[in-house]
Amino acid sequence: MYSFSEILQPLMFDLRILENEGLLVSRSDGNHWFRGTVAVVIGDNLGSHAIGGFLESFNSYRVCRFCMITKSQLHSNPVTLACSRTKTGHNEQVSIVLQYQSLATTYGVKSCSVLNQLKYFHVVSGLPSDIAHDLFEGVFCDVVQCVINYCIENSFFTAEYLNQRIGHFPYLGSDKVNKPSALSISPGGKVSVKQEAAQMWCLLRLLPLLVGHRVPVENSKWEVLLKLLDSSHYICAPSIYRHEVAIMEECITDFINSFQVEFPDQAVKPKLHYMSHYPQQTLQFGPLVHCWTLWFEGKHSYFKSINRITKNKVNICKTLAHRHQMHQLTKGPFTNYLDANKMEHQETYTLNMSEMPSEVKECLHTVKHMEHILAVKSVTYDGITYSSGLCVTLGENGDLLSRVY
Ligand SMILES: [Zn+2]
Repeated sequence: MYSFSEILQPLMFDLRILENEGLLVSRSDGNHWFRGTVAVVIGDNLGSHAIGGFLESFNSYRVCRFCMITKSQLHSNPVTLACSRTKTGHNEQVSIVLQYQSLATTYGVKSCSVLNQLKYFHVVSGLPSDIAHDLFEGVFCDVVQCVINYCIENSFFTAEYLNQRIGHFPYLGSDKVNKPSALSISPGGKVSVKQEAAQMWCLLRLLPLLVGHRVPVENSKWEVLLKLLDSSHYICAPSIYRHEVAIMEECITDFINSFQVEFPDQAVKPKLHYMSHYPQQTLQFGPLVHCWTLWFEGKHSYFKSINRITKNKVNICKTLAHRHQMHQLTKGPFTNYLDANKMEHQETYTLNMSEMPSEVKECLHTVKHMEHILAVKSVTYDGITYSSGLCVTLGENGDLLSRVY
């Protein structure tokens, strides 16, 4: 019924105040004015194109909100970084399209986004890629499926063998929680890869350990998967050095080119091309894993669960807002009644110190002379769970790898 400009009107009103006048905060040390604006707007490709005023068809002449690549260029060379979209160019294109609607396809834009009314935000530089939808629910599934089916066709292993390996692998820590589901097998013996995002990440990382030993060394099609894995380590890193972004760029280009050469019959999807924009976007926005939509999907799941429990159909917005505020109160820094040193652990058990490896005993300075100590299988500190058998990297030097007991 309503367009984005109507829906976002109250927000835009507030944002304009924040940009122009700011907020006055009075404290004992005087009055402070705080101003702010929008840095990024995060969404999946369809959502970002819709709110940014770009065409929402990913099969049209121009499919990229970052550059002017055409459909035919996309198929011939998805890495080509055609002329980037610029603020001035985009504004001109929009004004032409508003006059001549038939030119929307030519430029890949259809309307002026309401967000462009902000002083410091523009849709050509403020709608980063969402790697959750691009990779975890896109490129990863496509590539893993192609490579696995190639291996099955060439009798390196069967789909049943792979499923058996997936079912019996000794997963640890978060991998145990995100253990991949068995792959569905078609009557022809091929598999189709459909997993939740976290399961897909787990499957891609562990696939070489699951079936890599059955694949001939230096098999060029298998190497496509390894190249994707290399690229994904840089793309999904929570922090990255600037010089590593150059390595990321090389890895991504190498992967896309190899994929096209080794699987020429596979249709090139826009998501594959979007990957070639990741290095530049990482420099602009920081590691893209911090801009993915899974943060919001996680937040939504909290509201959905409250909705299921309360069964409130009268004023659901009010209930959710109230419950959420109560929930936030327990998390805030202004209270520590649920803090307990931020540490949670499972049941404790008594451990004889003589059973401890001597190098661990040496680390436990304060208790190393005791006969027994209390031990736990896992400890959650500050939101991170450390379990027995997992490793913690303390630095880049291989010598610094430390095992957690
Ligand atoms: Zn592009």
